Amino acid sequence: MEARRRDRFDRRQTATAEKTLRRVRALTHCPQALTPFLDTLSRVFVDRQDVVHPKGVPTVGTYCVMVPPELIYAQGAMPVKLCGGSYTAFAVGDDTAPRDACPLVKAVMGFEDIDAMPAYQNCALMAVPVTCDCKKKLAGWLQERRPTSILHVPANRDRDADMERFTRELYAFSDSLAEITGVPLTSENLSMAFHRLAEAQTQLSRFIDLRRKHPTLIRGAFAMAAMNAMSYTWAPSWTKQLARLNDELEGLARAGTMAVKGNQPRLLLTGSPVIFPNFKLPLLIEEMGGLLAADETCMGERGLYDPPAIVDPSLNGMMRALANRATRPCTCPTFADNRRRLYRVRQMIEDYRIQGVVYHVLRGCLVYDYEYAAMEAEMERLGIPIIRVETDYNEEDVEQLRIRIEAFIELIKYGGNDR
Ligand code: SF4
Ligand code: SF4
Repeated sequence: MEARRRDRFDRRQTATAEKTLRRVRALTHCPQALTPFLDTLSRVFVDRQDVVHPKGVPTVGTYCVMVPPELIYAQGAMPVKLCGGSYTAFAVGDDTAPRDACPLVKAVMGFEDIDAMPAYQNCALMAVPVTCDCKKKLAGWLQERRPTSILHVPANRDRDADMERFTRELYAFSDSLAEITGVPLTSENLSMAFHRLAEAQTQLSRFIDLRRKHPTLIRGAFAMAAMNAMSYTWAPSWTKQLARLNDELEGLARAGTMAVKGNQPRLLLTGSPVIFPNFKLPLLIEEMGGLLAADETCMGERGLYDPPAIVDPSLNGMMRALANRATRPCTCPTFADNRRRLYRVRQMIEDYRIQGVVYHVLRGCLVYDYEYAAMEAEMERLGIPIIRVETDYNEEDVEQLRIRIEAFIELIKYGGNDR
């Protein structure tokens, strides 16, 4: 029975991931340098192999961008972002989780239940920041099955006391890392990890600058594939892959070969996480004649904000810099005060000449839904059309979404919002 269930899971999981990758590749102007990123997604989700990492280096599953990768690399392990986007795993987790839990958490529980994905199975430790109720219950559920480190995230992040508390959480997490790797945290290994990640951030800044060019050099669906692949790639390898993609895009810019026509409606996608293979929205936007010019999601730029600002180079100073970077600039709505997300989206509208906003709400994701009203009011003030789309992890709503997205794109095309 169990073997039959696994077999069914394997077939469905492979089919969905293959279909998504096929649709990504079928979009026009796919850069050659995108291939390694798509290969990584294929390796993990189609071939169901473990992530590629140096021999003897354990992997640590992380469940939010607020877990600093620097700390994990410093202590001799590799972070693997495990928030789930699989419809097949969601269907398994749907039997375990309460009906109104979000699909992302259900997918994680499904992967854990079915035990069929090496990238998940092989993690020596799980790190779950308690950001929302779903993550809190997931943390408790995982803790009963696996070595799990739970990080308490402050609801506010402006007071020094909140930062002190989160810094202590990071020290506790560091102790758990030392238990699995045998490598204690030192200022030397943390400093080396900062440099390693700074190289990735440098390439990401280059990539962001290239994405802002007008007319656009790269479709948003491609950019999101590259960012998602980072979750399963050893940082120095991902940095090299991104450097090659940046070189190709710079070559295109020099030759004046832009990826898309200048008159396609330029959309921004914001809201609940968009995790491979749940690329429903980016693909529909681009297949329906829109251009996904930018995304404000945690599998996009939010994953690698600016490098941590180190004022004090001692170990404690670097740990505080990590705590600050992980929370203070973060636009995640799980924080009580989150006006900065509005500022951020406003800034992106300027930088990317955005003409319309698609606001994504995963079913059951209350925190993002809560912030929709403020975002809608802000967009009304700016005269930018916005559409709220609620989705789940299945194909059932695709046709309805297609009609709504197409109508939204037409509205912008003929509505005269010429930026
Ligand atoms: S949406 Fe917020 S809580 Fe969820 S993974 Fe992203 S940053 Fe973390
Ligand atoms: S922030 Fe939303 S999508 Fe993320 S775990 Fe919480 S409810 Fe789920």
